Amino acid sequence: MVIRMRHTRSHTKNRRSHHALKAPTLAVCSNCGAQHRPHHMCLDCGFYKGRQVMDLAGQKAKREARMQAKKDAISAQAESIAPTEAEAVSEAEVPETTDEKK
Ligand SMILES: [Zn+2]
Repeated sequence: MVIRMRHTRSHTKNRRSHHALKAPTLAVCSNCGAQHRPHHMCLDCGFYKGRQVMDLAGQKAKREARMQAKKDAISAQAESIAPTEAEAVSEAEVPETTDEKK
């Protein structure tokens, strides 16, 4: 309904009396006990109606393995970019240690 005339405070408040937000209703997962939307898969363990419908733990492990591989590749790349500095430092350190041993 379009309001085109001046409206009183009480009419405004009456209209806004239906604007309150409602808390979402949640169900408890039968597998892990976490709360999830009713008639939806549990986002914590991937179970629905007492059986596993998605391997969320496996997906998480896969993702972490992928991220670890990425980190390893980045660190290997960083080592390959600056090997001259590392070699120079190690070469400089090696003769000093040999001198100390003699
Ligand atoms: Zn669950």
